[in-house]
Amino acid sequence: MHNDLVAALDIGGTKIAGALVDDSGKILVRAQRPTPAREDGETVMRAVASVLGELCGSPRWLDVTAVGIGSAGPVDASAGTVSPVNVPGWRGFPLVDRVRTVTGGLPVELVGDGVAMTAAEHWQGAARGYDNALCMVVSTGVGGGLVLGGRLHPGPTGNAGHIGHISVDLDGDLCPCGARGCVERIASGPNIARRALEDGWRPGEDGDSTAAAVAAAAAAGDPVAVASFERAAQALAAGIAATATLVEIRIAVIGGGVAGAGEVLFAPLRRALHDYARLSFVRDLAVAPALTGTDAGLLGAAAAVSPGPRGQAAATAAG
Ligand SMILES: [Zn+2]
Repeated sequence: MHNDLVAALDIGGTKIAGALVDDSGKILVRAQRPTPAREDGETVMRAVASVLGELCGSPRWLDVTAVGIGSAGPVDASAGTVSPVNVPGWRGFPLVDRVRTVTGGLPVELVGDGVAMTAAEHWQGAARGYDNALCMVVSTGVGGGLVLGGRLHPGPTGNAGHIGHISVDLDGDLCPCGARGCVERIASGPNIARRALEDGWRPGEDGDSTAAAVAAAAAAGDPVAVASFERAAQALAAGIAATATLVEIRIAVIGGGVAGAGEVLFAPLRRALHDYARLSFVRDLAVAPALTGTDAGLLGAAAAVSPGPRGQAAATAAG
């Protein structure tokens, strides 16, 4: 049997990962480069081409039928362009055309990283078997994506489900996006750490003042650290409850570094969801940690390519 493969690219502000992925989700070949995020756009593109060049060197490249890209956003899947916040050299960069050129004209699909993670969790992770799901990444930022009616729902530009910029605090702090009181402004890792520091929490002897250190302090019972995670959990719960009320999701899957805090985050999140999701059709909403881990971006990019062998998780980027 001929076993078609997808070349997957996961493009973020720190690394550009690539892989050849089979239709069962197995990663056969990997390549990775640091993202030269402070350099000009062509230098960043050369790093992408270098990852693809390494994948092309594999004898399995002959079985590759398409390329899937999950990129830090914003992306515009309908135009094939990307403008990642943390890669200033790329603004409206025609990534799809450039990758198609490098790969000799293979079909190329582009989705945002939140949508890619959602495709991965629906295909291989905690949202598997759910026809209506919200999947979220809570780390430096807060992103997400939707599965509706059994299919990935990227929206026209590939950004649907970007829950981080739903406002949950009408008069809240200004968010870098220009709005106020966004979920991300309250629940992202840097904001969890900032709030704990402002309220008097102090890092230990190692000087680590990241959200992971706040999580460790919260696990040890530090009340300020606990309160900062409870506030983040409230913001996430309000955003999840709003999403559930709008489109009737059955599960919210949460990944990313902040989800690594485990019950420090999930226990107050379940309590807050109980407070915010009250109507009969949202009350039984499940919450679960993501399962696909650091490979979520690659698996999701592969899943986004084709609705065929990769099952119901897949859809075209343009929706
Ligand atoms: Zn915002």
